[in-house]
Amino acid sequence: MADDILIIGAGQAAAQAVQSLRAEGFEGPIKLFGDEPYAPYQRPPLSKKFLAGEIGYDRVELKGADFYAQSNVETHWGTRVTEIDRRAKRVLTGDGRGFDYGKLIIATGSRVREINVPGFELDGVHYLRNIEDVKSIQAHFTEGAKMVVVGGGYIGLEVAAVAAKRGLGVTVLETADRVMARVVDPIVSHFYERVHREEGVTIETGVTVAGFEGKDKVEAVVSGEGKRFPCDFVVVGIGIIPNTELAAEAGLEVENGIVVDELCRTSDPDICAAGDCTSHPSAVYGHRLRLESVHNAIEQGKTAAATLAGKEKPYNQVPWFWSDQYDLKLQIVGLSAGYTEAVVRGDPETGRSFAVFYLKDGVLIAVDAVNRAPEFMMAKMLTQKKAVLDPTRIRDESIGVKEIAG
Ligand SMILES: Cc1cc2nc3c(=O)[nH]c(=O)nc-3n(C[C@H](O)[C@H](O)[C@H](O)COP(=O)(O)OP(=O)(O)OC[C@H]3O[C@@H](n4cnc5c(N)ncnc54)[C@H](O)[C@@H]3O)c2cc1C
Repeated sequence: MADDILIIGAGQAAAQAVQSLRAEGFEGPIKLFGDEPYAPYQRPPLSKKFLAGEIGYDRVELKGADFYAQSNVETHWGTRVTEIDRRAKRVLTGDGRGFDYGKLIIATGSRVREINVPGFELDGVHYLRNIEDVKSIQAHFTEGAKMVVVGGGYIGLEVAAVAAKRGLGVTVLETADRVMARVVDPIVSHFYERVHREEGVTIETGVTVAGFEGKDKVEAVVSGEGKRFPCDFVVVGIGIIPNTELAAEAGLEVENGIVVDELCRTSDPDICAAGDCTSHPSAVYGHRLRLESVHNAIEQGKTAAATLAGKEKPYNQVPWFWSDQYDLKLQIVGLSAGYTEAVVRGDPETGRSFAVFYLKDGVLIAVDAVNRAPEFMMAKMLTQKKAVLDPTRIRDESIGVKEIAG
């Protein structure tokens, strides 16, 4: 019987799993399957420095060119896994081959949510998930070109920031009454709306996109209210869908992500899953979470690898995330949903550096920090400890960050 560990999906979680499997002492065969033509790379720069053309492929690649060979990993780039046969313990690939496994890691990530309105198939309507998407968007990056971004979430706003800096005319359309409404407090949303406007970006909230118009290519976005936004191209960033179909078809439990336990085990003990495609139990929050972040993919990659190497390293951390727009580094630790008080340190009205501390009945549950690395670092520790904080100490900038907790 095969003792091979097969990994499906060659992204952030998979690259980490390979590294951790070897670090945990697994010496057997590892086979890695990815449907993109590239070795695993970082996605965050795709809407930041890589999109801006400031860094090339060599800087987004996750591991050095020799890493997989040196780690004795058989790589299958450009190879899609189409089926998991759990009874035969075998995966099938799109090119008709079969590979036996002893254990499996599913790290299939997520894909973009597509917009289903008239004209969606017109040329010039783009999404952003992979390197090819970046190349298509960059082809429109000529000074003065008009871009409409559909969706005022992180990715839409990051693309808007890069394009504005390149001299494009940028309009962001957001359905909610403020940007990034799903993840941050209105204080932070309004701060980002102000900065984008100062940088020349038009932000329109409360706008529902009803369709795209154009003959051979997109020429305008039309809202439900009948307003027309002329453009040369569109970038749609309206969220993602976890890639769970392979797992579901194999009979694994799936509910808003592949269901895993704190050791990243699926409902089949021989199969772990990691990254964007999973739903995991959070001891910190007392309910299941499906996260879309590098931190989550890395930590679950480590945990899944440890589990399959016969060790127990439960994943139980406060999540964190970041977004770069212009000269602003937004760092978020924790999930603020359900907070009872948002306490501001610094001045979001006029400045470009502040932090919002979210308390739930006095306990710190999350912090959004803009150009405030010390607050972010401290918050990582305090949220994990479920520290009780005094709002007056948070607000008082004469009290150093390290002394906030008293
Ligand atoms: C533009 C952009 C910007 C982002 N910015 C940030 C950020 O600033 N901070 C942050 O924390 N997170 C950010 N993220 C999110 C972060 O990149 C993801 O959470 C992370 O990549 C998830 O890693 P993963 O391994 O689960 O999935 P992925 O990295 O998506 O890798 C999954 C891989 O599996 C492949 N695959 C899927 N199905 C199959 C199959 N059947 N057979 C073979 N291969 C398959 C996919 O094509 C993909 O290559 C960003 C994402 C994007 C797209």
